[in-house]
Amino acid sequence: MDYTLPEFLAHAIALENEAAERYLELADMMEAHRNDPVAELFRDMVRYSRMHHASIVERAQGIALPALRSWQYRWRQPPEAGGDEAFDISLDTWTALCYARANEVRAMEYYSEVGQSTSDAEVKRLAAEFAAEETEHVAALDQWLARTPRPSTTWRDDPAAPAA
Ligand code: ZN
Repeated sequence: MDYTLPEFLAHAIALENEAAERYLELADMMEAHRNDPVAELFRDMVRYSRMHHASIVERAQGIALPALRSWQYRWRQPPEAGGDEAFDISLDTWTALCYARANEVRAMEYYSEVGQSTSDAEVKRLAAEFAAEETEHVAALDQWLARTPRPSTTWRDDPAAPAA
C-alpha cells in the first residue's frame, strides 16, 4: 500500500471517526451494565479518537482528500451472539475490552503497515506517530483487562453451549 498523503489522511480520518462511534456505543453498553469505570474508559477513548480525528482534519486543511473507494480499515463487528442487531447485544466487560483491544491492534497494525510500505516521507512519519498512539491504547486496554475477571463461561467458550 503505497499511500499518498491525501489518501492516508482520508483513511486516518475515517478510521478515527469510526473508532469514536464504536467507543461511544461500548460506553453506553457499559453504562447499561452499571460498569461506570469501564464506561468512563470508553468515554476517554471516544475523546482521544475525536481529538485525534480533529488534529488529522486540521493537518489535512488545504489538501484535497480523495473519496474513499474502499475501506482498507474498519472496526470489526462485535462478537455475534445471535440476532441481526449485532451491536445491541450486551457484552460483558471482559468481552467488550477484548473486542476493543482487537480493534486497536488492527489499527496499530494498519498504521505500521502503511508506514513500512509507503515511499512518502510524510506519510511514513505520520503513520509511525499514529501507530505509537494506538500502541498506547492497546496498553491501556491491557491494564484494564488485567484487573477484569474473565467470565467463567461466555457465549464463546462455554462447553455446555450447543454446537453451532
Ligand atoms: Zn486507538
